Amino acid sequence: MSYSIAIDGPAGAGKSTIAKLIAKKKGYIYIDTGAMYRAMALYFIESGIKAGEQDKISEAAAEADVTISYENGEQIVWLNGRNVNGLIRTEEVSKMASSSSANKDVRKKLVELQQALAQKESVVMDGRDIGTCVLPNANVKIYLTASSHVRAVRRYEELSAKGESCSLEVIEKDIIERDYQDMHREISPLKQAEDAVLLDSSDMTIEEVADAIINLCKG
Ligand code: C5P
Repeated sequence: MSYSIAIDGPAGAGKSTIAKLIAKKKGYIYIDTGAMYRAMALYFIESGIKAGEQDKISEAAAEADVTISYENGEQIVWLNGRNVNGLIRTEEVSKMASSSSANKDVRKKLVELQQALAQKESVVMDGRDIGTCVLPNANVKIYLTASSHVRAVRRYEELSAKGESCSLEVIEKDIIERDYQDMHREISPLKQAEDAVLLDSSDMTIEEVADAIINLCKG
């Protein structure tokens, strides 16, 4: 029987870092669902589609083939046969992903892919709707959050380390806007599943959060 850990929460709460660490410790596959929404968003941007053009997004979603594979434990996201890992972590893609992920055709396509992946293997999957929609029967569900300021500082440090110039204020504003969009969309808004455990990582180290989650796993 495959085992599943669902980690949801707002942008920059540390979901992917923690999910990756847990997957490594448990020998499970890590599935970054945000990267799939980002790959779709990249396709829309490259197709000249603007955020909010729902009909065009629905139409283009049918043409965008998103798949994932693994290389040395790293998830690679493929968009129509092209490795797009290096192109999907920009603020432009973040904003488009938050907007286009509200589209029902985009969600339907990606949720199906995510469910199929989790059927085959034991997974740690992170996103916004994993515990509420993608894996409602997940063995462990976590809602991971942190204050918007802490989350903005983390993102700022991440971008600065990559040599990208950025402003902490702008990042915090973008994070708040993106959370608002993700929490208030009609389909599968970001919210804590009733049976999810709430963890606030503001004053916790990565190891502490990972250990807290592993302690909840009985499989
Ligand atoms: O997690 P990440 O920041 O990479 O996600 C990018 C965007 O993709 C989110 O802001 C959200 O709008 C969307 N998303 C989603 N459902 C998921 C994962 C991500 O709607 N399961």
